[in-house]
Parts: sequence; C-alpha cells; structure tokens
Amino acid sequence: MICNLLNVIYPRRCPICTDIVTPKGEKICKECINSLVYIQEPRCKKCSKPIEHEDHEYCGDCNKNKLSYQYGFALWSYNLSISQSISDYKNKGKKEYADFYIEELVRCYGDKIKRLEIDALVPVPLHKSRQNYRGYNQSEIIAKGLGKALNIVSIPKLLIRNKKTLRQKDLNDKERLENIQKAFVINKEVLLKYKNINKVMLVDDIYTTGSTIDACSKVLLSNKIEEVYFVTLSIGQGY
Ligand SMILES: [Zn+2]
Ligand SMILES: [Zn+2]
Repeated sequence: MICNLLNVIYPRRCPICTDIVTPKGEKICKECINSLVYIQEPRCKKCSKPIEHEDHEYCGDCNKNKLSYQYGFALWSYNLSISQSISDYKNKGKKEYADFYIEELVRCYGDKIKRLEIDALVPVPLHKSRQNYRGYNQSEIIAKGLGKALNIVSIPKLLIRNKKTLRQKDLNDKERLENIQKAFVINKEVLLKYKNINKVMLVDDIYTTGSTIDACSKVLLSNKIEEVYFVTLSIGQGY
C-alpha cells in the first residue's frame, strides 16, 4: 500500500535513461534492458570476466595475479550504460536504483550464492569521510538487500577502510595495488559478535583488476575467515 502510494507520488525512474518507467511495477524500460550486457559463458572461473576462448580457464588478470579469494560473480560487463547508472547511484543520490540491481542479482545468481552456503555478506567499506559526504555506502545497500532476499546476514561494519585512497580509476595497475593494499582493517569488535562466520561473500559495485576485493579478502583470511567469495554489479577494464 505504502509502496503503491509512493509510486504515485514518486514514479520510478529507469536506472539507465532516467525516464519514468512504464508500465508501472517495472524497474527498467524494456528498451533499456537491452543496453546492459549480462555476463555469460565463457567467463573467467575466478573473477567472472568474459573471456574469448572457451578452453581458457582464467582471464589475463587472474593468470597474472595471485588472488586470495576463491572466486566471484559479476552481473554486467562494464559499458557506458551501466557505468552511468552506477555513477548516478553512487554520486547523485539515486539509491532507488539498488532495487533493480538487487532484483537482477537475485534472479541471476541467487541460486548459485545459496548453494555456496555463505555465512555472511560483507560490503566493501568506504572511508568514513567519503561515506559522510555521500551519506551512504552504495555496496552496503546492495549487501543488505541481497541478504534480505537470500536470508544471509550482512555485516556492513566488519571491514574498515582506514586509509583515504585515491580514486582507483585515475591510477595505473601498479599504483592501484600500492594504493589499495593496507587500506582495510578488520573491526575486531564486530568480528567478536559473530560466531561461526567461515565463508564470507564480499559485495562491491565495480570490479576492475580485483585489487580491492583481494585486499579485503586478505584481511578477512588473516582473521580466521576460511573462504572469501565476491559479487559485484559490473566488471570490466579500460576505464
Ligand atoms: Zn530507460
Ligand atoms: Zn579473471
């Protein structure tokens, strides 16, 4: 009821073209969904990035780098449509886009995530100053919604970003790695509250080379977490 009422007062906007979505009840325009590239096989068995040849197991990045996590899922290949959508979601207060993102994550990966028997979802944290400025952590909203849909606890404060990092997209690979390593620490107080958390799935909006997920994963693994997986909305290179 409240939902319907809100829909009348604030009709839902399409996360891609920003127009009012019709018919009512839909979360994205029919045409706009075609501008999103859903990740399909063949994909890298580690990071889920599309690969060209079916007989290759891993993408170039995963072949080159030793990554500490098990593996992960990404929903969309990075392109102009999704990059704009996620940018507005993060920077222009378009929190309602999360409903569409979560719905698609559940539709495409809900069963796979359930089968992994994940103990907790952990969003990649923002530095306190960035979170205060933005007012929310985009990945925390996704983790919470996904957790609710799949009945998995989400623990938003398990990791802390203790170093204000430069924007990853402005850096080259080597700088990214240096920038991100040691940026995260465990929140011991929060960890103590949760017993039997062995398998954790990190949640982030965009995956590039994997350095952020890897840095978070290393912190978790050095604090008695046994296996780390991840899920992201978008994955890609060259931006
Ligand atoms: Zn649209
Ligand atoms: Zn890969």
